[in-house]
Amino acid sequence: VELIEDKHSLRRALAAEREAGRLVGLVPTMGALHAGHLSLVDAATAGCDIVAVTIFVNPLQFGDPSDLVAYPRNLERDLELCAQRGVGVVFAPTPAEMYPRGDSSTVVEPGPLASRYEGVSRPGHFAGVATIVTKLFSLAGPCRAYFGEKDFQQLAIVRRMAEDLDLPVEVMGCPIVREADGLAMSSRNGRLSPDEWTAATVLSRSLETGKALITDKGERSGGGVGSAMLDMLACAALVRPDYAVVADPISLEPVGTITGEVRLLVAADVGPVRLIDNMAAAP
Ligand code: AMP
Repeated sequence: VELIEDKHSLRRALAAEREAGRLVGLVPTMGALHAGHLSLVDAATAGCDIVAVTIFVNPLQFGDPSDLVAYPRNLERDLELCAQRGVGVVFAPTPAEMYPRGDSSTVVEPGPLASRYEGVSRPGHFAGVATIVTKLFSLAGPCRAYFGEKDFQQLAIVRRMAEDLDLPVEVMGCPIVREADGLAMSSRNGRLSPDEWTAATVLSRSLETGKALITDKGERSGGGVGSAMLDMLACAALVRPDYAVVADPISLEPVGTITGEVRLLVAADVGPVRLIDNMAAAP
């Protein structure tokens, strides 16, 4: 695997791949790679000729400076995992390389899709994400880019952004990879104590309960399903729920009456960590 740390070398390397007729697969990450990230790498490997993984903990998308400091980093191990998976290029720039002026005066503002859920709890987060993803797409050039459904709202925003701005990138969504106990894999899970980890499994259990209400019990009220999931989160020790909703899978608007496929979305703080999870459900 080739480690690239500067923007211009990345642009040149991927342009050369395209000139040689190869389809580039891009996997943007913040590192501390786990099996969820590697599933994106595998999808990119299966669908493309050369895979570039980007590893950058983007300061622009962190509202809380202590969260940015606490975010796990392990480049050596990430490089090893990428090498094992046959990744062609790892792009791991410093913050100064990505933001030579220290910040970005120009910011990509994602619009209504970013106004709910994570957008409420983390003001500015999605503008930070949209801005770094735009920069990465600009450097990578025409490619397929792989994102996880784990961050469902982010995926919807990136898809819409690529469409709105005519970015030459095909955005691919990949299913959530879970631990054996149902907890969605996340780089943040490593900060959970054993008790907090056990408590955190209530997120996926609340989603399963919501899904069963819709699919097996015939519940058709989005608000009713949302309340049931929120109650479950609220009853769990060590868990401070943020939201539990039934949303339209494209617009992400809350669904009143469930008539077709919906997305169940939950978020909660568990110990020191903010966790999100989601699941598809249909009548
Ligand atoms: P992150 O490093 O957390 O920014 O995540 C990088 C990419 O990996 C994003 O597209 C995430 O949605 C995706 N991802 C993170 N965790 C998972 C998971 N458990 N399953 C599938 N994709 C994931």
